[in-house]
Amino acid sequence: MVVLDPGHNGGNAAAPGAIGAPVPDGAGGTKACNTTGTATDAGYPEHAFTWDVALRTRDLLVAHGVEVVLSRPDDTGVGPCVDVRGALPGQVGAAAFVGIHGDGAAAGGSGFHVITSSLDPAGPEVAAGTDALAAALRDALVAVVPPATYVGSGGLDDRGDLAALNLATTPAVYVECGNMRNAGDAARMSDPAGRQAIAERLAAGVLSFLE
Ligand SMILES: [Zn+2]
Repeated sequence: MVVLDPGHNGGNAAAPGAIGAPVPDGAGGTKACNTTGTATDAGYPEHAFTWDVALRTRDLLVAHGVEVVLSRPDDTGVGPCVDVRGALPGQVGAAAFVGIHGDGAAAGGSGFHVITSSLDPAGPEVAAGTDALAAALRDALVAVVPPATYVGSGGLDDRGDLAALNLATTPAVYVECGNMRNAGDAARMSDPAGRQAIAERLAAGVLSFLE
């Protein structure tokens, strides 16, 4: 079983109080429950992108016999908060947690990156699993999206500020599937065929990790 976590949610922008509420960040502090996410310059929102890619990835994994739990039931609700998302894989006994996002960086930067927690909060064994999951997803995605030109190294980045990754007790990553503010990435991410290609590589990476 794997948890797919489509970033953000369609109702977040209309609920600033709820999504701005502080929640544990897994690093001894707090951060906002959730955010609205970014969008392409043409207005295609990140929450819609992540939801669509998560459904496509789920369908591909289910077709390969993998049970999938989504962190939210639709693209119209509010939240859930990042700490709730991060706790989910441990609660359901998942083998892995994959957060799906699109970045909102300066327009000149392009490409994907896979983020891991630099805090290794669940110990060295889980951290090794996280590194293996990140490598499997990177090796799969690079067939359809180049590694990020503007962050990390070789399509990988390690950060301590992402609550869901800090709080997960299983191997856990965020995949920033591209920079929605970059014209080339935005074209791919706004195109159903581009999203299907991304989903096929995410599913391939998860399947490789599970083997
Ligand atoms: Zn995001």
